[in-house]
Amino acid sequence: MAKHSSLDVGTIPYWTDSASFPSFPKIDRDLDVDVVIVGGGITGLTTAYLLQMAGKSVALVERSTCGDVDTGHTTAHVTMVTDTRLSELVRRFGRSHAQAVWDAGLAALGQIDGIVAEQKIDCAFEWVDGYLHASEAAPDANEIASLKEDADLAHELGFDALFVADVPFAGGPGIRFSDQARFHPRKYVAGLAAAVRAQGGQIFEHSGAEQFYEDPLRVEANARRLRCRDVVVATHNPLAGVASAMSATIFQTKLAEALAEVVSRTDSACRAGSDPATSAPRAASAQGRR
Ligand SMILES: Cc1cc2nc3c(=O)[nH]c(=O)nc-3n(C[C@H](O)[C@H](O)[C@H](O)COP(=O)(O)OP(=O)(O)OC[C@H]3O[C@@H](n4cnc5c(N)ncnc54)[C@H](O)[C@@H]3O)c2cc1C
Repeated sequence: MAKHSSLDVGTIPYWTDSASFPSFPKIDRDLDVDVVIVGGGITGLTTAYLLQMAGKSVALVERSTCGDVDTGHTTAHVTMVTDTRLSELVRRFGRSHAQAVWDAGLAALGQIDGIVAEQKIDCAFEWVDGYLHASEAAPDANEIASLKEDADLAHELGFDALFVADVPFAGGPGIRFSDQARFHPRKYVAGLAAAVRAQGGQIFEHSGAEQFYEDPLRVEANARRLRCRDVVVATHNPLAGVASAMSATIFQTKLAEALAEVVSRTDSACRAGSDPATSAPRAASAQGRR
């Protein structure tokens, strides 16, 4: 079952080595569906699952094999704690927006738990404490103060967070966040893929999306046309398709401008409201509840 992927650095992730994954055919015909999803990682497969459950017909096209790229290389902390520190989120976006970011993470945790139960996915999902710990066992006073500040802030915003002097295994001070989780990500997405197929969804591997057309909306993969009402791009990294490097760069530059506009509008909305600004970190380790 072990195989290398496009993130190949000469080693095989534990997730790949310890779980098999169903394989799916190349697309070999034109199709007409409600939604085409591009990318078969956790984002694309979750989207396919939720859309199927909502009664939409879906076709997912994956350039290589599902669950192998970022999703197959993750550390797999299932947590509301973001890479950007909570105090930074508050500083930049305000308390309510920072809180909304973490609330969304909590909702995602609950949704994963619900899907695991509903589909009986055997992926070792388990609720555990998550820890954000200092970079060293004996950090300086500033780092300790910063951890205390984030613990207090998280608590004020309604999250179950506590500063602790001695993080299990890692040692040294940190923050304990209750009700985080861990799972086997490839087993989880294999379960999602099985559920999508069982409900009539179509999944194609080795079928990279190469072109997108409007009027009618369609995606081209392996020289086949997938007509649809909507497209979800779930490729994690921006798509270049078969465009030249120059056109792709210009396209991404345009996207970056649009993104900057969205962020700046959000930021303006924050400033207009009563909120001060902010953001947060990923829990550095997840330990079993004792
Ligand atoms: C080392 C590491 C540690 C991490 N640790 C954590 C963690 O602890 N907790 C956490 O929450 N997150 C973590 N992450 C991040 C997390 O793994 C990713 O955010 C998540 O897996 C992204 O999933 P995805 O489905 O968006 O992307 P991917 O899993 O990368 O899936 C995108 C898919 O799109 C496909 N694709 C690309 N182009 C095309 C195309 N043209 N046509 C069709 N398909 C295409 C790719 O082949 C790929 O399969 C970590 C990531 C890494 C690398």
